[in-house]
Amino acid sequence: MTDKTPHYDLLIRGGTVIDGTKAPRFDADVGIVDGRIAAIGKLTGHTADRTLDATGRIVAPGFIDSHTHDDQAVLSQAQMPFKVSQGVTTVVAGNCGISAAPLRVDMDLPMPLSLLDTPAEGRFTTFAAYLDALRATPSSVNVAAMVGHSTLRAVVMSDLDRPANEVEIAAMQALVEEAMQAGAIGLSTGTFYPPAVKATTEEIIEVGRPLTSRKALYVTHMRDESDHVMESLEETFHIGRALDIPVVVSHHKVQNAQNFGKTKVTLPFIKEAMQHQCIGLDCYPYTAGSTMIRTDRGMMDGRVLIASSVPHPECAGRDLKDIAAEWGVSGEEAAVRLQPGSAIYFMMDEDDVQRVLAFEDTMIGSDGIPLGEKPHPRLWGTFPRVLGHYSRDVGLFPLETAVWKMTGLTARNFGLHERGTLKPGHHADVVIFNAATVRDTANYETPTQPAEGIDAVIVNGAVTWQHGVHSGARNGQVIVRREAA
Ligand SMILES: [Zn+2]
Repeated sequence: MTDKTPHYDLLIRGGTVIDGTKAPRFDADVGIVDGRIAAIGKLTGHTADRTLDATGRIVAPGFIDSHTHDDQAVLSQAQMPFKVSQGVTTVVAGNCGISAAPLRVDMDLPMPLSLLDTPAEGRFTTFAAYLDALRATPSSVNVAAMVGHSTLRAVVMSDLDRPANEVEIAAMQALVEEAMQAGAIGLSTGTFYPPAVKATTEEIIEVGRPLTSRKALYVTHMRDESDHVMESLEETFHIGRALDIPVVVSHHKVQNAQNFGKTKVTLPFIKEAMQHQCIGLDCYPYTAGSTMIRTDRGMMDGRVLIASSVPHPECAGRDLKDIAAEWGVSGEEAAVRLQPGSAIYFMMDEDDVQRVLAFEDTMIGSDGIPLGEKPHPRLWGTFPRVLGHYSRDVGLFPLETAVWKMTGLTARNFGLHERGTLKPGHHADVVIFNAATVRDTANYETPTQPAEGIDAVIVNGAVTWQHGVHSGARNGQVIVRREAA
């Protein structure tokens, strides 16, 4: 028997492992070789090229952001400091019906497609070209991407203000097929948004046909998260059953004052439906949402904070009511003048947010919009806010559950193979953090601040963030649907 001392590229010593399965924490060292986890346990006497001391720290799987609009940012802001600084090692892109591909070179991008900040030059006309660009110039995080139904509508239809006809549905279906072959993990819709408001349930089912044989995901920013949230849930589950595929309800919420408390009805309804079909959901830990500047009554009722405005960039960070008063116009008129742009809407109840977060099957997704200087603080703060504020300080759930909601559960629901749990053989996406001090510092006034208490972030074996500094590593991979790998 040859007795060779094991040697690692990287050895994390002395930490407490929370492995992403919801199992109780345990003390262990973690050895990494060739971007994979090689060993977990007492690795005393083993050697390594580089050692990180994790004494008194939690060692967990890198966080997976289930809901992002980072499609373009992973190329244009490839180091992704707003995500890496939180411990995020994987982002799911292509949400809310919006994706960076496919696009036509000559098309105008209606809101909210333009929120992705896609440059006029260098658009991707196929999904494969987008993923190839990401492979050629990797980001600091792994990317799993979906194709967006609103994007397909904008590519295929000359008039978005009606349901698609048969020819247009066939054209969109072909584009979904192309995306599936390239490795997209699913199709997203955003029937809440103008480009897809007129899409019927049948249109979505027909466009989604190529998902069925692959069991690819249907992920949706539902038609209505306000007075008709129950009908929207029913529509979502109906589409999942019609296509026989798993569905994910994005950023589950009930908005506007008259609906506060309705999560007492939506969550049991979701739980019941889960007995019969595959359903996931995610949420972000804030009572304000953020989206394109709108003028709907319900959304204008609470405080509205302008995040970005193309015609009036100087208004970013200001309250809509102050801008309206200064201009001597109504809030609605001011909102119209500020379009296109994005805003932060205070439209949820804290009790609902906590109820959704604490719901057993809820994943954590930031829904951050990586645009401008005054984004919603969720872009920089979501994950540490759940770990620090909601798990530790409020006591909503144990830290093991918090970690699971941002790792193991998400990897399972999105089919991210060999990620999301710390296990020998898995990709070495790891975050080391201080459970006593981890907290978000981004707020509505100063939204672009890195979290505290995140010691180190490792992506496919590369130390990418340590003690508040980005190493420059861009070791992220493109995650394709498993059958397409
Ligand atoms: Zn959305």
